[in-house]
Amino acid sequence: MSFFKRAAAAAAMFALLGAGPSPAPSAASTAAPDVNVTRATLDNGLRVVIVRDPLAPVVSVYDNYLVGADDTPADFPGMAHAQEHMAFRGCSGVSADQISAIFAQLGGDGDADTQQTLTQYFASVPASDLDVELGVDSACMRDIQDSDTEWKSERGAIEQEVAMDNSNPS
Ligand SMILES: [Zn+2]
Repeated sequence: MSFFKRAAAAAAMFALLGAGPSPAPSAASTAAPDVNVTRATLDNGLRVVIVRDPLAPVVSVYDNYLVGADDTPADFPGMAHAQEHMAFRGCSGVSADQISAIFAQLGGDGDADTQQTLTQYFASVPASDLDVELGVDSACMRDIQDSDTEWKSERGAIEQEVAMDNSNPS
């Protein structure tokens, strides 16, 4: 298992570990519950928050992994951001080309961001295609293509962001 495979496994584990039960509402709270917000914790520990907004027939999905630059080895700065990139190189049973084709077909939009304590993937697609979007997310939560070949392919994109001072956190 390569260093990066171990890092990916750790990231997935952090996502599950960070998915503890939501705090109970404060007894002192007098605010009415927001009927447009649904919170749940799945059997696998994944916390889900659904905010209903009927303004447009679009759904935006944010996958938050509670791991980021603060969790990288001190001698390997930038690894969290680099690992974030690798989800775009293909996931469990879905190649990078297939992911691109799926989102192109849906007309959706998405990206990712790495912060100190959070790695976030986000996408907006037509609401009628939510199941397709969640299928891709599910594949990437299971596994990402972390092969040396894929790392070599992605390395150029990462180096380009660093050269443009667009790699944050570094
Ligand atoms: Zn980037």
